[in-house]
Amino acid sequence: MSEQTNTETFGFQTEARQLLQLMIHSLYSNREIFLRELISNASDAIDKLRFRAIAEPELVGADVDYAIAVSFDEEAGTVTIADNGIGMTRAEIVEQLGTIAKSGTAEFLASLTGEEQKDASLIGQFGVGFYSAFIVAHEVEVLTCGVGASEGTRWVSQGEDDFSVEPLQCPRGTTVILHLRDDAKEFADGFRLRSIVRKYSDHIGVPVRMIKEAFPSEESEETESAEPEFETVNDATALWTRSRSEVSDDEYTEFYKHVSHDFDDPMTWSHNRVEGKLEYTSLLYIPKKAPFDIWNRDMPRGLKLYVQRVFIMDEAEQFLPLYLRFVKGVVDSSDLPLNVSREILQQDERVTSIRNALTKRVLNTLESMAKKGPDDYRAFWDEFGEVLKEGAGEDFANREALAGLLRFASTHMEDIQKKVGLADYIERMDEGQDKLYYLVAENFETARSSPHLEIFRKRGTEVLLLFDRIDEWLMANLTEFDGKPFQDVMRADLDLPEDEEEHGEADSEANAALSGRIAEVLGELVEEVRVSKRLTDSPACLVLPEHAMGAQMRRIMEATGQELPETKPHFEYNATHPLLERLAAEADEDRFGDLVRVLFDQATLAEGGTLKDSSAYVSRLNRLLLELL
Ligand code: ADP
Ligand code: MG
Repeated sequence: MSEQTNTETFGFQTEARQLLQLMIHSLYSNREIFLRELISNASDAIDKLRFRAIAEPELVGADVDYAIAVSFDEEAGTVTIADNGIGMTRAEIVEQLGTIAKSGTAEFLASLTGEEQKDASLIGQFGVGFYSAFIVAHEVEVLTCGVGASEGTRWVSQGEDDFSVEPLQCPRGTTVILHLRDDAKEFADGFRLRSIVRKYSDHIGVPVRMIKEAFPSEESEETESAEPEFETVNDATALWTRSRSEVSDDEYTEFYKHVSHDFDDPMTWSHNRVEGKLEYTSLLYIPKKAPFDIWNRDMPRGLKLYVQRVFIMDEAEQFLPLYLRFVKGVVDSSDLPLNVSREILQQDERVTSIRNALTKRVLNTLESMAKKGPDDYRAFWDEFGEVLKEGAGEDFANREALAGLLRFASTHMEDIQKKVGLADYIERMDEGQDKLYYLVAENFETARSSPHLEIFRKRGTEVLLLFDRIDEWLMANLTEFDGKPFQDVMRADLDLPEDEEEHGEADSEANAALSGRIAEVLGELVEEVRVSKRLTDSPACLVLPEHAMGAQMRRIMEATGQELPETKPHFEYNATHPLLERLAAEADEDRFGDLVRVLFDQATLAEGGTLKDSSAYVSRLNRLLLELL
């Protein structure tokens, strides 16, 4: 077979092509990161081989010297990055370097704004590190031989529409040759490359080697033909094995980019070594931005697991609970066996204790961020708050700590951006207030204008406003904080401290008669009709029986097709409202009925609810309007 017939050309997947373009444009101002990405891949490939070699030492032979070599040719305008890691087979390279495996990528790309500046930080989410080669190269060649494969593959592309592959003999590992663009020739320079390696890849646990540059001197001329001598240019000790005081913020930041594949800086991190019954080191990072697929509970997540510094697996999800799925980093255990599998991790008691400790560690990190950097914490909350709320319902052991991390909008802040924590809420509570008041609605606007808040506004009592999809479920799991119970202000059992002046005599005879007439009109629609203590401006509102399912939960359950038993609200009216005073005097029973039904429907609407029969509402309202005109 001639080589010709073995060459195959493939089109890049559409998403890959789009990302490639996006990447070339948006990362142009920070072109040197291509080297970080390629070294990061080489280091991952070596980690993977090292791991395979534990079970199959014959794959690598004795005494293998794992290393990454970076070289350049100024005349030819090339930069080459070579590793002796796991390599790729022909099928793997077509798959890995031609498609973006993440599900949902296409939809996500379609939703992008086109503001490239903004999108740059999103690129890292896709694991498109390799494509950064095209920021500086007009052509990229990859020579690779997968471990144990009989032949290697040459992959070549101009980064436009397609790439081609052909067979080739090469040693195990991967060599990436960048043919630099005219405006990127500056990278074919020893000094420049060394400084980039030190800046971004110092902490990688694999040595990065470059040929020693001979300084022009008389002796060097004599040795010119000798074998080139290599030197290691990075520190080559895995960052987490160093002590905290020796690691700079920049180093932590660069290491984050390596482990997370994120192009953005992390928000914060926590690095700890634990000794004693269990020995392990953890380095946990909180990212700045949530990945686009954070709501996909099956998205890859978890920490990079090492055992005694040997890489074992990516995304070891057993070390953190699901609600902390945004945390990135490394855990390196001295106790687990090297041949540990996911199945073993699931049942291992040591893993459970590490997981409990790491969970506390993350919560502590968030707590101190909230104390020291409220602005940072607010930014964190906006990205990850809803995910953290899952924890308050799932992680009972840490419920109090989690509750302390929650943030809510409230009646004391007109701006949706401002949020209050429960500790601060308690701090500024009214004298004598013994409950934490809250209200759940569909959105901020509906929450803020709910008639249920009127009495609280009048008294100046703060009410937390909740409107995330998860909130009603959250509050069902959260009964108290700091010894104080929560109280839903929409519930029938709302038991406000009395204030006689506000509502006069609720149980007067006249009111009893009016309640009776209203109840007759509403009949089966309501559980009970009574005079309200919570309204000051609105004529009426609907109140939930104490243990009934709230409207939000009901909508979610109904959306999933579940049949729910009907719950009837209580109808509360404001006896001192002019409309009600007129109503009490209405002798025409038909008009009385229309008015009551309109009040009932309006109360439903005010809560963001929908009317069962909206056209009946419209015609009643029109009948009443006609009498006005
Ligand atoms: P990521 O590193 O986030 O997975 P990249 O775009 O950097 O994404 O790389 C894509 C994939 O290509 C890698 O996951 C890996 O499977 C493969 N790959 C890239 N470089 C190498 C290499 N030097 N050796 C072996 N495989 C590699
Ligand atoms: Mg990569």
